[in-house]
Amino acid sequence: MQYRKLGSLDWDVSVLGFGAMRLPVIENDPGRVDEAEVWNHPQVSLLLSGMSTMQQVRENIACADRSDATLLSEEDLILVNAIRQEYRRLVPVPCTNCKYCLPCPNSVEIAAKFEHYNNANIYDNPRAPRFHYSNLSSDQQADNCVECFECEEKCPQGISIVEYLKKAHALLGEKR
Ligand code: SF4
Ligand code: SF4
Repeated sequence: MQYRKLGSLDWDVSVLGFGAMRLPVIENDPGRVDEAEVWNHPQVSLLLSGMSTMQQVRENIACADRSDATLLSEEDLILVNAIRQEYRRLVPVPCTNCKYCLPCPNSVEIAAKFEHYNNANIYDNPRAPRFHYSNLSSDQQADNCVECFECEEKCPQGISIVEYLKKAHALLGEKR
C-alpha cells in the first residue's frame, strides 16, 4: 500500500498521515517508498506487484532497475516500520482492494465498503466515509448481502467478508 496516501482524506489528516509525510521521496516520486522498502532487503530478488496499466508496468520496472539494499537509511526504515505497525493497529479489515472477490452476484460493492470502513477508523472520523458510502446505490450497500459466501471463497486474504460488511454497514449506513 502507499503509506503516503494516509496523509489526506478530503479535509482531514490522520495521525498516520503525519508520519507518512516524513517518509523519504524516492527519485522525485513520493509513491515509491513501499517498493523501495521491499527492494531494500538484500535477500529479495523478485517482487510480485499487481499492475493493471502499461504505465504501472513501466514504473515498477524502473523501480526494480534502481533496487539497492542501501536505498533507504536506517532512520527511514525505523519510520517505515513504525508506520506499518500503527497501520496494522488502526485498520480493522486487511483488505488490499484487489477486487478478486468481485463481482458479487448480488451487486454488493465489497472493496469500496472496506475502504470507507477502514478510513473511518484510520481517521477516527466517519463523516467523509459515510458521505461516500451514501453515494453507493442501494444494490451496492452492505445490507444487500444474502450471505452466500461466494466472495469469501475467492478472497486471498481470508477475510471474513460477511462479518465485516455487517460492521461496516452498522457504522457507515447510519443516517446523519
Ligand atoms: S478479495 Fe479480499 S482483499 Fe481483495 S478486495 Fe475482496 S475483500 Fe479485499
Ligand atoms: S456473501 Fe454477500 S457480499 Fe459475498 S458474494 Fe454473497 S451476497 Fe455478495
